[in-house]
Amino acid sequence: MPARRIDGKAAAAALRGQVAALVGDFTQREGRAPGLATVLVGEDPASAVYIRSKNRATAEAGMESFHHQLPDTISEAELLDLVGQLNADARVDGILVQLPLPAHINATRVIETIEPSKDVDGFHPMNAGRLATGLPSLVPCTPLGCLHLLKDEFDSISGANAVVIGRSNIVGKPMAQLLIAESATVTVAHSRTRDLPEVVRGADIVVAAVGRAEIVRGDWIKPGAVVIDVGINRIPSDDGKGRLVGDVAFDEAVEVAAAITPVPGGVGPMTIAMLMRNTLVAAHRRAGLADPEGL
Ligand code: NAP
Repeated sequence: MPARRIDGKAAAAALRGQVAALVGDFTQREGRAPGLATVLVGEDPASAVYIRSKNRATAEAGMESFHHQLPDTISEAELLDLVGQLNADARVDGILVQLPLPAHINATRVIETIEPSKDVDGFHPMNAGRLATGLPSLVPCTPLGCLHLLKDEFDSISGANAVVIGRSNIVGKPMAQLLIAESATVTVAHSRTRDLPEVVRGADIVVAAVGRAEIVRGDWIKPGAVVIDVGINRIPSDDGKGRLVGDVAFDEAVEVAAAITPVPGGVGPMTIAMLMRNTLVAAHRRAGLADPEGL
């Protein structure tokens, strides 16, 4: 029987609805809406599309958005100065600096300048360290979205064998930390992993975050496994426009897995929904309120 398709669009819409309702409560109680500041340096078309969707989702959730569009000639010092102003701005609960940044700007320095309590991308070393040590933190949106989808598939993840392919700071590593916190037995694979197919064959949960089109084949998947495909890869298509595929060969894996995320329409929509969730959580913590329940 073909795998169930995990509907990330529907899960994201439900989460955004929940967030919007809680934004209403927050706004009534605090007399202001949660605020998200976005910063885009330069004109990269893909980044511009991401930022537009994030700002649209912010407005739809009833939150305030403060967008800063900067030329790619801006100096690192000027960008750090803007981040400092946003850190100090009481209306701003979340700060998102869209990556990648131009080569003359040190992205690590920019991330480290963001006030950790406003770091809704969860990339600051303080948040990464707090996640790794089991303390409350702001968690990167994409792996948090993957975990949300996984929790819908399992009564409990405890004891499951999970293989995360990819060890980036934004997806692979935080994904592994989240799965460890759920008491999964976690293997993190990467470009130096020996016999990746055999490693993946032992997995009840596969999270692929590689950035290589359809690298994970159907015969790597254990029958009945749950497959979360984070990859977004554009490959040539007959109409010349190109089409998006994941890191998993969907048509093969769908015949073996119990459940699988499609690309597009799987993990992608969850990322923005989790950004809204993180901004709401940051607003609660900054206002001295308990985290909103059920998100
Ligand atoms: P990244 O920083 O390039 O990391 C890729 C990881 O894959 C690295 O750890 C790399 O290993 C590993 N890798 C590369 N080739 C491999 C191979 N042949 N076998 C096994 N592992 C290999 O990428 P990322 O930022 O984590 O993103 C991964 C993918 O997810 C990309 O397609 C990206 O577009 C997508 N993404 C999607 C969303 C979303 O919202 N859906 C969000 C973020 C990212 P090494 O460490 O050894 O180099």
